[in-house]
Amino acid sequence: MDDNCLFCKIAVGVIPSLKVYEDDKVLAFLDIAPVEKGHVLVISKRIHSVALIETPDDVVSELLAVVRKVGAAMIAAGFGGYNVVQNNYPDGGQAIPHIHFHVIPRMKNRTDPLVWTSGANPYKDDEERTEFLELIRSHIK
Ligand code: ZN
Repeated sequence: MDDNCLFCKIAVGVIPSLKVYEDDKVLAFLDIAPVEKGHVLVISKRIHSVALIETPDDVVSELLAVVRKVGAAMIAAGFGGYNVVQNNYPDGGQAIPHIHFHVIPRMKNRTDPLVWTSGANPYKDDEERTEFLELIRSHIK
């Protein structure tokens, strides 16, 4: 792990996060600047790597297993769909240089396109953020 990496610090718990799911290899937590309410980030707890092409296959598999788990929880929770986004390098829009997958829920019957702007849909307050956290977390299987 990298001592100067924000997501490594979150992965080991030095910096707290709002956890949707965690096991010994992977952590899923709410993005603090959600594109949509319920926006989850999935990161590896095992290694620090930057881009998908630098990340070992077994780590990618572990991450994708949790991406699927979070997506399934969103559907079970009543969202209409979700988007999986994975940005690579600054020119690819990667803000934090530690590999992560975004899982972004979409309400039922949405017709507007996903707008990729960090913080585009902030929570009204901590209570609303906790509601989304609990909604998704409670449907993880
Ligand atoms: Zn890192």
